[in-house]
Amino acid sequence: MLTLHRLCIHTMTTKPWPLREAIDGYVRAGVPGITVWRQHLEGVGLDEAAKMLRDSELRVVSLCRGGFFPGVTIAKRQFAIDDNKRAIDEARAIGAPLVVLVCGAVPHMPLAEARNQILHGISSIVDHAAQAQVKLAIEPLHPMYADTRSAVNTMEQANNMLAALQSPWVGITVDVYHVWWDPYLQNEIQRAGKSIFSFHVCDWRDPTRDLLNDRGLMGEGCINVPQIRKWIEDAGFDGPIEVEIFSDEHWAGDQAEYLEKIKVAYLKHS
Ligand code: ZN
Repeated sequence: MLTLHRLCIHTMTTKPWPLREAIDGYVRAGVPGITVWRQHLEGVGLDEAAKMLRDSELRVVSLCRGGFFPGVTIAKRQFAIDDNKRAIDEARAIGAPLVVLVCGAVPHMPLAEARNQILHGISSIVDHAAQAQVKLAIEPLHPMYADTRSAVNTMEQANNMLAALQSPWVGITVDVYHVWWDPYLQNEIQRAGKSIFSFHVCDWRDPTRDLLNDRGLMGEGCINVPQIRKWIEDAGFDGPIEVEIFSDEHWAGDQAEYLEKIKVAYLKHS
């Protein structure tokens, strides 16, 4: 049976809350872990954010997000590499051991070319990550985002990238929303094994009214979250379970009440 001790919440899940309110809200609700989105660092300042997080004693699980490596010009690709190095530095500053990579895609660029550029991008930052003692996790995204967000759409593609990169600093984030439909999911989770660095949960609403911002609480949709969790635990994962929900509906309500609903859904359906 789950208790709350592995629960982590993404600041994007409670997007209307600035970092200060998110920290206070999570602590009040007994949520032990936080994943910080970079946009919630903006306006606070890195030093101040780091201090707030340290003082809160929340476990900082990861920083979201790096990636977006493909670009049509060398300058754009270099900008992405530099920005990812900054993300690694930010993660180190706030005590996050992991940067999650939404790898990127460019409309009209062949996906195979985008994947080459992603490989090049990650290999260009891996030494920086190792020096900072910050890991990197490739998060495969649902293929509906292959136009603009990620050319890495399956666990198989992510595993192939790990095989090419051969670095203990690079692994995979399994997000149920993006991979639940994959017929090879269980096999590819086994193949990833200890390279699974983090685990994101939410649910796929039926019907889904918006392809980005209509994700559901666990139990509100058709994803068998406990099944996928069992697979990744069988593969050796025992880290935090991160609730990451983009939802205009849930963002519109009272975020403290929403946190209580998240806790109930987490205990019942994760
Ligand atoms: Zn995710």
